[in-house]
Amino acid sequence: MSRVLVVGAGVIGLTSAVRLLEAGHRVDVVARDLPLETTSAVSAAFWYPYRALPQDKVTAWSKTSYAVFDALADTDPESGVAMVEGTEIFKRREPDPWWISAVPSLDRQTSLPHGYVDGWTFVSPIIEMPVYLPWLAGRVEELGGTITRLNLKALPTGPDVVVNCSGLGARLLAADRSVVPVRGQVVCVEQTGLKRWLVEPEAPTYVFPRSHDIVIGGTDDEGEWSRTPSPETAAAILRRAEVLVPELRGAKVVRHKVGLRPVRPAVRLEGDGAVIHCDGHGGAGVTLSWGVADEVVALSG
Ligand SMILES: Cc1cc2nc3c(=O)[nH]c(=O)nc-3n(C[C@H](O)[C@H](O)[C@H](O)COP(=O)(O)OP(=O)(O)OC[C@H]3O[C@@H](n4cnc5c(N)ncnc54)[C@H](O)[C@@H]3O)c2cc1C
Repeated sequence: MSRVLVVGAGVIGLTSAVRLLEAGHRVDVVARDLPLETTSAVSAAFWYPYRALPQDKVTAWSKTSYAVFDALADTDPESGVAMVEGTEIFKRREPDPWWISAVPSLDRQTSLPHGYVDGWTFVSPIIEMPVYLPWLAGRVEELGGTITRLNLKALPTGPDVVVNCSGLGARLLAADRSVVPVRGQVVCVEQTGLKRWLVEPEAPTYVFPRSHDIVIGGTDDEGEWSRTPSPETAAAILRRAEVLVPELRGAKVVRHKVGLRPVRPAVRLEGDGAVIHCDGHGGAGVTLSWGVADEVVALSG
């Protein structure tokens, strides 16, 4: 049993903490932002391997997470995870997605909106982050871990193992300038009875139904740091979504949100002395979370 300090209370830090505690380690989490203040809280959060590499590892991590989310949706409704069917649509013919082996099944779609020639339908976890992050934090505490607010200037030395799950914070804490922000803006509207998700990757446009609202996106602006929602961007997001999902017309807007995805040329998951770096999950941190957490435990020895 080791004394482990996890830096970061987003989905990656909390999931790693849960798996480390289950493996019998003593775990404390420290973070500048508490769970509901993180980028993870802005996440849409749909299981989908997006803006994260390398493809082989991302597929394997995503597959592990898919199975965990599927089980949670079945056994633990309090977790905020639901398995939802939906469709991704394309204006051109597409080969099978590179991550196809991570999902149990994926069917080609023939009934498509005007202007679209290809698409696929599959069942995917939708993870309601305002419910899920407190649930994860509760798991950390139930298992004997702690979560403390602390703004670090450097990774601490002293614990047996330090796990760096600082997302974009790795630019400072690991002097890693290859992690860059990719700004994402979403609009949440009231639930109108929508049951299926829809993704159109070109714009991109996505619509994810949750229990009380619908998350509509999005944007994908590399190198942008502003976390202030733009009204013009929100209007454009809604316009695009309403064309594809007419049921959204007139739905009341309840929230605007912006987050900065921590994108890196490849996810960093490696040991370096007493430090395990686990960051750079891009647009797929939730999707990868249970897979990478298992690997953090394996690296912690
Ligand atoms: C609009 C949007 C939509 C998204 N949709 C999806 C989706 O549908 N599916 C999906 O899988 N992913 C999605 N993502 C991506 C996902 O949100 C991220 O990949 C994920 O949140 C990264 O998690 P993380 O724990 O690494 O980072 P974060 O959630 O950013 O957490 C980092 C933690 O490190 C702490 N930290 C940083 N610096 C310091 C410091 N100096 N001292 C102490 N603590 C520090 C922070 O305070 C925070 O607690 C989306 C992102 C956005 C913005």
